[in-house]
Amino acid sequence: ACTTAFVPAAAATQPEYLDKKAPVADRVDDLMSRMTLEDKIGQMTQAERASADPQTAADARLGSILSGGGSGPETNNAKSWADMYDAYQKAATSTPLGIPVIYGVDAVHGHNNVHGATIFPHNIGLGAANDPQLAQDIGRATAEEVAGTGIDWNFAPCLCVARDDRWGRTYESFGETPERPTAMTSVIDGLQGRRLDGPASVLATAKHYIGDGGTTGGDDQGNAEMSEQELREVHLPPFKAAIERGAGSVMISYSSWNGEKLHASDYLINDVLKGELGYSGFVLSDYDAIDKIDGQEGFTAEEVRDSINAGIDMVMISSEWRKFVDTLKGEVEAGRVPMERIDDANRRILTKKFELGLFEKPFTERKYTRTVGSQEHRDLARQAVRESQVLLKNDGDVLPLAKNDGKLFVAGKNADDIGNQSGGWTMTWQGESGPITPGTTILEGIRQVAGERTEITYDRHGRGVDDSYDAAIAVVGETPYAEYEGDRPDGLGLDQEDLATLSRLEASGVPVIAVTVSGRPLDIAEHVSNWDALVASWLPGTEGAGVADVLFGDYNPTGTLPMTWMSSFDQQPINDGDGQRPLFPYGFGLRYE
Ligand code: BGC
Repeated sequence: ACTTAFVPAAAATQPEYLDKKAPVADRVDDLMSRMTLEDKIGQMTQAERASADPQTAADARLGSILSGGGSGPETNNAKSWADMYDAYQKAATSTPLGIPVIYGVDAVHGHNNVHGATIFPHNIGLGAANDPQLAQDIGRATAEEVAGTGIDWNFAPCLCVARDDRWGRTYESFGETPERPTAMTSVIDGLQGRRLDGPASVLATAKHYIGDGGTTGGDDQGNAEMSEQELREVHLPPFKAAIERGAGSVMISYSSWNGEKLHASDYLINDVLKGELGYSGFVLSDYDAIDKIDGQEGFTAEEVRDSINAGIDMVMISSEWRKFVDTLKGEVEAGRVPMERIDDANRRILTKKFELGLFEKPFTERKYTRTVGSQEHRDLARQAVRESQVLLKNDGDVLPLAKNDGKLFVAGKNADDIGNQSGGWTMTWQGESGPITPGTTILEGIRQVAGERTEITYDRHGRGVDDSYDAAIAVVGETPYAEYEGDRPDGLGLDQEDLATLSRLEASGVPVIAVTVSGRPLDIAEHVSNWDALVASWLPGTEGAGVADVLFGDYNPTGTLPMTWMSSFDQQPINDGDGQRPLFPYGFGLRYE
């Protein structure tokens, strides 16, 4: 139709995909009509930051960049992350089509790669708290900190239903039953906000689809041997819930189901996830996972073809992304990967990029940078720590401890160690012991909350304890690990150091309060009778004062076990309702009168 209205030249020539008022589907179609096969394969490729600097990534038209655990900028603070992110966007938006990258990280308990960020309890603690509103609030706070470094996308939440404590990723699970992980999908609402293009919205990832927590022996990346009925009843519900909440991406599990790698499962990805569940977001591979389909080093054309044809839309690669790009191109040209599959993947990925508002606002919203580690977020984390504590034993009401009165002795390798109380996925992939980021250790929290008229003596090893004390607190348990490095096929008992510390306290004659800092239930049944009280603290993160709030009764514990607690290691795998006699049943947790 002819119009006489004045149309500015720029608006007349602006392609439709850059018109923010046009419907997203039209913008996607318009953009895709301008893209070459190379552009499209680029969108399907996610490279580790260290393997592609901003210009290299832009020249290759890569659609996505990730920082795997701890591979962020050298100085590691929020501002340097934001500068790095902006450099990628500057290069990407300077290409002819100017498609922004989508940058992903694992912010699995707060923005845990960034020095000074608020570190929340790991998922197992949030499962113990079992408070959907709390999980949502944590999602929001995490999103603000993540947005403050520019990052668009979080590889969280892990919706694994951990069925075997030997598994090294048990702490990434909200619990052993489908109910708790399903309820905690509220974290997605917090991460993604009301609208993906709203303030500080970050794309969430439901991972790892499916059955990662159900492998035989608790082997990380192992084989989940089970019927389809069990897979659907135990492991599918949290994913259904995540999809209903609009989770933008789904990450596929390294594991297998009855011998078939999930990354090549046409049935579970195309038929069940995208078909039956109607999932319309995009599907991401795990890190170099398509390499592992055939069990041989290096990925083959067959692995590329099988994974893309099975429905994987974007492939996460540490370094060999050029090989992936060339291989997929060859497969498409040979007709072994249909062009419709490439277009479908691009439509899914680009839809999220438009919905996130990346084309309009590709750079860091710097006003959020100052929320990284803010007092408000730390207060929320402390509340989460309080709610996640599970009081398992309290003989003679030794807890809560009196404030501003008496003498306390504190010991144990996890009493005064931010790294230990934060666990894996903190600053580095594996995490590490020591003062790795600012926070309040459990000992510092005890000192703060006890009040200055309480006399507190600390010795890591429990040396010097005697019966002049009112109580001795032993903070023991695990030290950091992540993924398969934490698999424990041979036992989950206390280590020699903890046993030595505990025996000093036990011999002193004072009441002993054991606090376990661990990613899972431990094999401690033979010691529990020596202790007057026992609190499971899980991996509380940087705000250790939340543990003290429970010990001194400022918070009456509400946490309950998200996992059945074994009475001996040979009960593994132990789960609610399987007929074994646990030390403490699923759902157990005491309160103060
Ligand atoms: C883990 C994922 C994680 C990815 C990127 C993999 O090893 O299995 O959970 O999102 O690395 O860091």
